Amino acid sequence: MLVKHILGEKGRDVIAIASDATLSEAARMLAHKRIGAVVVRDDSGMLAGILSERDVVRAVADGSVSALARPVSIYMTRAVATCEEQDTVEEIMEMMTIGRFRHVPVLSSGQVTGIVSIGDVVKTRIAETVREAESLREYISAA
Ligand code: AMP
Repeated sequence: MLVKHILGEKGRDVIAIASDATLSEAARMLAHKRIGAVVVRDDSGMLAGILSERDVVRAVADGSVSALARPVSIYMTRAVATCEEQDTVEEIMEMMTIGRFRHVPVLSSGQVTGIVSIGDVVKTRIAETVREAESLREYISAA
């Protein structure tokens, strides 16, 4: 199964925020959209970083409520690990495990065209396992 198959099912909507938005705006976006991370874009719309709910918690733990008025650019992760539509779900799982993160933006020709979360990966793997079990059952009963 490839990343493009996941995006084909879930869609290619990407929730993004500007790097000069405040942490408070980012927290509101995460809560209202019911997501765990937002892609951060610079002035030209290019990928500048990623900000997850963990970054918000860490920022408030370290800087208290005053962190909420500061820009997202201070707290986001700049070295974003990305993938492409042709990558396999196994490759994304390995990337998430080694990097210890749960979100991977998808790039096509340098543009963010989707995002894959650990929830998408788990859902896909479960569906694959169910399909494999069904074909094994069919194979055994036909034998
Ligand atoms: P997450 O597990 O996705 O909530 O993120 C945990 C930490 O990893 C946070 O500091 C995020 O900013 C960072 N992070 C999330 N996704 C990525 C990614 N694709 N590449 C690099 N860092 C990431």
